[in-house]
Amino acid sequence: MLVARIEEKIKVFSLKMIQDFVTMLEHFEINDIELEDIKTYKTFKIEQAERNYQKDMQRSINRQKEWMLKGKKCPHCKIALILAEVNTLPGNQVGGGLKTQWFCPDQTGCGYVNYSTLSINQWMKRLKIKMFDNGKKQKIKNQRAKVTADCQKVKKRN
Ligand SMILES: [Zn+2]
Repeated sequence: MLVARIEEKIKVFSLKMIQDFVTMLEHFEINDIELEDIKTYKTFKIEQAERNYQKDMQRSINRQKEWMLKGKKCPHCKIALILAEVNTLPGNQVGGGLKTQWFCPDQTGCGYVNYSTLSINQWMKRLKIKMFDNGKKQKIKNQRAKVTADCQKVKKRN
């Protein structure tokens, strides 16, 4: 009997995996996609992900370099200060209409802090540093909005 014959070999996969496999197999058959095509596609996607990771790493390194070059330095330690928001959360309340702080990340506890009424955006403009991935974030936001709108259209129709 077929079940008895294949059970030993197939039982390592869950019923869900087998269902998904059958669905995919039928889909590939209908669309005339061969196993070799799928393998090629898989290899391409893995390599693409690797290339994107390398690009992101390089972008991050470039950003750090830009920050070292254009950002503010600690007057005591001469290392790059960190810019962070204040008065936005219960834990970062300092009062006085302040929006940001420049603080020294030095591990020996330099403790230098300089508060500002400028926002992070205003500082970035002043220092001529592009906000990280703003365009990318907006693109993803727009795509999500489009998908949501499409889903609502489908819902209305049904
Ligand atoms: Zn310092």
